Amino acid sequence: MDLYEYQGKELFKRYGIPVSEGRLATSPEEARAAAEELGGQVVVKAQVLTGGRGKAGGVKLAEDPRDAEQKARDILGLDINGHVVHKLWIERASDIAKEYYLSITFDRGEKKPLFMLTTQGGVEIEQVAEESPDALARLHVDALEGFQPYQGRRLIYGAGIEDPDEQKQVLAIIGKLYRCFVDADAMLCEINPLIVTPQGEVKALDSKFTVDDSALFRHADVAAWRDTSAADPLEAFAREKGVTYVKLDGEVGILGNGAGLSMSTVDVVVVAGGKPANFCDLGGGGSAEGVVDALEVITRDPQVRSIFFNIFGGITRCDEVARGILEALDRIEINVPIVVRLDGTNAEEGRRILADAAPPNLYVEPTMLEAARRAVELAK
Ligand code: GDP
Ligand code: MN
Repeated sequence: MDLYEYQGKELFKRYGIPVSEGRLATSPEEARAAAEELGGQVVVKAQVLTGGRGKAGGVKLAEDPRDAEQKARDILGLDINGHVVHKLWIERASDIAKEYYLSITFDRGEKKPLFMLTTQGGVEIEQVAEESPDALARLHVDALEGFQPYQGRRLIYGAGIEDPDEQKQVLAIIGKLYRCFVDADAMLCEINPLIVTPQGEVKALDSKFTVDDSALFRHADVAAWRDTSAADPLEAFAREKGVTYVKLDGEVGILGNGAGLSMSTVDVVVVAGGKPANFCDLGGGGSAEGVVDALEVITRDPQVRSIFFNIFGGITRCDEVARGILEALDRIEINVPIVVRLDGTNAEEGRRILADAAPPNLYVEPTMLEAARRAVELAK
């Protein structure tokens, strides 16, 4: 689960990481009131779950409450990389002398949390990694040993932070960020930029925070922050149904069992010259109920012109999937052709069930590639 900047900053604050005071606003009037309460210059920031807000015009300085109201009017409703702005974070403006970058995430290769620190903050970190990799200090933490202060010092020297007062503050922030990362079951905590003010104060000016979905049961307060309005309505509906679903922008609806097969199905549809409309994983069970739910989700997408049902039976039994498909056809109106490929456990029985029922608009193909070609052709 990705957190909004203001939510991430709320967690930072709980761990003693310095952030600026701010208020949430959903209208220009609220933005004005927030600016009045905060006093002085404020920054009006779009709250959307995507980066690059600054470049897209979603972060603006305002001189006074009236200006804040105007800037809020400009930003609300803005489309930033496909995310429409409904919420604003109004924050007391900071003077910036330097922009650093600090993050902690998982390095899957090393199977360890990884800190990254550079004095070249404010820009995309990928750019720093590519153009000046030496400027990016990287450090792995052993999860069992935990974070040790010497590691923080190593990071600071690695990044080339020389001012002793800055070193002290950044060191403290690194330690607090590690606690925050571990306690929140985070996948990513990123501060870009981590600023130094002209007075020498170090603080987090932005937050990118991802919490592991599988750990949300331990964090009821964070889970309650989930904002279903921001997500794609279809994805929200899928979550309600317990279906693993990601909306894509093509025409061929995809349903596979298991994440690996579903990913391969996405690939093979592209190989066959088509564009996948979604990724949908039926999971390992493949019960009739699961099939009905998944088809209900996929067919709600008006862009779907055909459906490719790709099943490799292991634990999943193809006869059960076939019955699920027939039951779904009974229960919900499906107006697009469905192409089915069944292989593995009880595949023959599954195919026989489908052949006996012979529903219109259902095609059974022997291989994955042939099924993909057929589904792509039918989507035209
Ligand atoms: P992002 O573009 O989505 O990463 O949003 P950020 O929160 O990082 O803001 C983008 C940029 O706006 C920052 O890198 C700063 O240069 C600038 N900015 C944000 N807040 C302030 C502020 O309080 N004062 C000043 N002077 N600039 C700010
Ligand atoms: Mn940023």
